[in-house]
Amino acid sequence: MSSRVAVVKIGTTSVTDAAGGVDQSVLDAVAADVVAARAAGWDVVLVTSGAITAGWAEVGLGRARPRDAATLQAVSAVGQPLLMAAWRAAFARRGVAVGQVLLAPLDFSHRGQYLHARSTLQRLGTLGIVPIVNENDAVADAEIRFGDNDRLGALVANLVAASHLVLLTDTEGLLTADPRLDPTATLIEEVRAIDGELLALGGSSSSGVGSGGMASKLAAARMATWSGVTTVIAPARVPGSLSEVLAGRSGVGTIFHPRAERLSARKAWIAFAVASAGTLSVNQGAIQALEHHGRSLLRVGVTRHDGDFDEGDAVDVIGPEGELVAKGLVRVAAATFDHGDDVVIHRDDLVLLRRS
Ligand code: GLU
Repeated sequence: MSSRVAVVKIGTTSVTDAAGGVDQSVLDAVAADVVAARAAGWDVVLVTSGAITAGWAEVGLGRARPRDAATLQAVSAVGQPLLMAAWRAAFARRGVAVGQVLLAPLDFSHRGQYLHARSTLQRLGTLGIVPIVNENDAVADAEIRFGDNDRLGALVANLVAASHLVLLTDTEGLLTADPRLDPTATLIEEVRAIDGELLALGGSSSSGVGSGGMASKLAAARMATWSGVTTVIAPARVPGSLSEVLAGRSGVGTIFHPRAERLSARKAWIAFAVASAGTLSVNQGAIQALEHHGRSLLRVGVTRHDGDFDEGDAVDVIGPEGELVAKGLVRVAAATFDHGDDVVIHRDDLVLLRRS
């Protein structure tokens, strides 16, 4: 049987109940579905949210949820073992062991860490153990935002060369409008290209307790489909929806087809995993050369550079209106920008980002 790998991400509002505690019944149903998918030949990596909410339910004593990063990080340390205990219980009753893998964004930027994470996830799979991933919130260096686990799911899908990314959430899938505002909203079953119009439909991420909203799911779907991964947004609380999705049944959730022109793993890593250390502003001529002629970016096309980037760092390439055009690994450091090589980003290290 060909190896088929699915990354399944489940969000905070699905994993926790109204009081913020872990909702064991949902975890049980998802575990049953994962076990069924494994029986059908799938390797599954789970990405779970919920550590912060579960941690706050444990120690918050009814006070309003904190917003500062240090408290959120501390609270995640309380919730993460609760979350894992609940996942372990859900899988143990089906005779399946689980392993915890906590990843921070830096693990994706650092090639060595990235490869270690990959071999650990793969080995867990060959041992028959379900890897359960969350962001390592306790040591995450930046602000913790809901929705980050959607991005994490897409990065993990790329990392393990998954064929499918399934984002389990508290809606049926992607709807034509926000159902809280428009009761006539209907499910969009299929998406072939994630363009500006669709991204606008996602709106901005919700900031309350709960999911990252559709915007972060669409961003994750874009990352994944550009890496050749079929992405599905599906309902977490409908038993069996994961197996249905993986069996290719239509009508369950929203399916995003992978882009025909898929990025290599390395280009996907440049485009989506590595943080940018600066920006290069370029003129129209340079944009033309990059987008229509597949050229490298030359210094003559750069009108200004910002940020203290080093040789080999990732930088954003922006156009005259401040629009993001591309991202790439720069060949010259900011400090010596005016004296280095004429090619500032080689075409092999450059990813064009304006296509849908
Ligand atoms: N890593 C966070 C948590 O487990 C959730 C981030 C997200 O909701 O995307 O609480």
